[in-house]
Amino acid sequence: MEKVRVVVIGSGPAGLTAALYTARAQLSTVVITGMQLGGQIATTSDVDNFPGFPDGVQGPELAEKMRAQAERFGARFDYDIVTEVDFSKGSPFTVKTQNNEYSADSVIVTIGASPRKLGIPGEDENIGRGVSYCATCDGYFFRGKDIVVVGGGDSALQEAIFLTKYANSVTIIHRRNELRASVALQTRAFSNPKIHFIYDTVVDEIKNDESGVVKSVTLRNVKTGEVTEKPTDGVFVFIGYDPNSVIFNSQLTTDAAGYVIVDDRFRTNIDGVFAAGEIHDNVFRQAITAAGQGCAAALMAINWLGEREDQLQRLDEPVEAEA
Ligand code: NAP
Repeated sequence: MEKVRVVVIGSGPAGLTAALYTARAQLSTVVITGMQLGGQIATTSDVDNFPGFPDGVQGPELAEKMRAQAERFGARFDYDIVTEVDFSKGSPFTVKTQNNEYSADSVIVTIGASPRKLGIPGEDENIGRGVSYCATCDGYFFRGKDIVVVGGGDSALQEAIFLTKYANSVTIIHRRNELRASVALQTRAFSNPKIHFIYDTVVDEIKNDESGVVKSVTLRNVKTGEVTEKPTDGVFVFIGYDPNSVIFNSQLTTDAAGYVIVDDRFRTNIDGVFAAGEIHDNVFRQAITAAGQGCAAALMAINWLGEREDQLQRLDEPVEAEA
C-alpha cells in the first residue's frame, strides 16, 4: 500500500485543478483518472467558454494542459479506476484501484456525473457526429439546423431554449404527454416559435448518412405504436444525469438522486474527505465552475491537513511536569 497525503478521485476540471493546488502546496498527490483523462470535457470538441482561450480549445487539449500543469508541481497520475474506498476508520483512508492501493491522509472526490443515455442503436457511434449531451458545448455547431431534444424535464426545456439561439428549429420529443419541467420553463418554451413538441413518443434509433453524420431519428408513438422517420441534423439527449457515487457505497451522504452532499466549504460527512464538481453539483455543470470548486476543495484539504498535523504534533510533545 502506498502512502500519500492526497488522493484525488477523478480527472475532470475539478480533479485536475484540485491536484494542481495540493501538489503545489508540496503535498504528495495522486490523481486516479478513471476511464478517461479529463472526464466529460474530454468528450467535448470545441470548448469556447473556458476563460483564457480566446480562440477556444479542444476538450482533450484542455484536459492535457491541466494535467501537465498539475504534473509540473509533482502530481502523479494513476490511469486506473477506483474499485473500492474505505472511509469508515477516518484518516488515513484506503482507496483501491484495479492495480494499486493507497493510504491517503485526505481524499478529494471529483468523480463527476454521467449524462444518462437512451441506450438505442445509433447513439454511441454518433456521439460527436450529431448526438450530444451538452448544449452549451455543442449548440454552436448547429447554427441554422433542425434538431431534436429528447426529454421532458427542466434540463430538456432549458437546453432546448438555449439551443434556439443557434438552431433553426428544436423539436422536443417526450415519452409522456405531460412535461416534468417547471411551469416557468414550460411557459418560456411554449412561447418560443422555434420550439415544437412531439408527445407520447420515444426515439428507437438514430440514423446517419454516408458521411457518418446524423440524418434522422426513428420515432415510435407509445400509445398508437405508429413508427415514423423524422429527418434531423442533431439529437440532444437530456434525460437526466447520474452522479458516479455508487462506488462510495453509502459511505458518503448523498441526496435522493445520489449527489454527494457537501457544506459551503466542500466538506462531505467524512472529516478529511472533500467533494467538488458534478459529483455534488447538479446546477452549474460547467468546466470552469468545476475547476473553481476543485480549487476550493483543495484549499480546504490543505488547510485541514495543516491543522491536523499541528494537532498530532501537539499530542507528540512531552507534557511538562508541573512544578
Ligand atoms: P429529470 O428531471 O430527471 O428529467 C428527465 C426527463 O427525461 C424526464 O422528462 C423523463 O421522462 C425523461 N426520461 C428519463 N429517462 C428517459 C428515457 N430512457 N427515454 C426518454 N425519456 C426519458 O432530469 P433533468 O431535467 O436533467 O433535471 C435534473 C435535476 O436538475 C432536476 O431536479 C431539475 O429540476 C434540476 N434542473 C433544474 C433546472 C432549473 O431549475 N432551471 C435546470 C436543469 C435541471 P418522465 O417525465 O416521463 O419521467
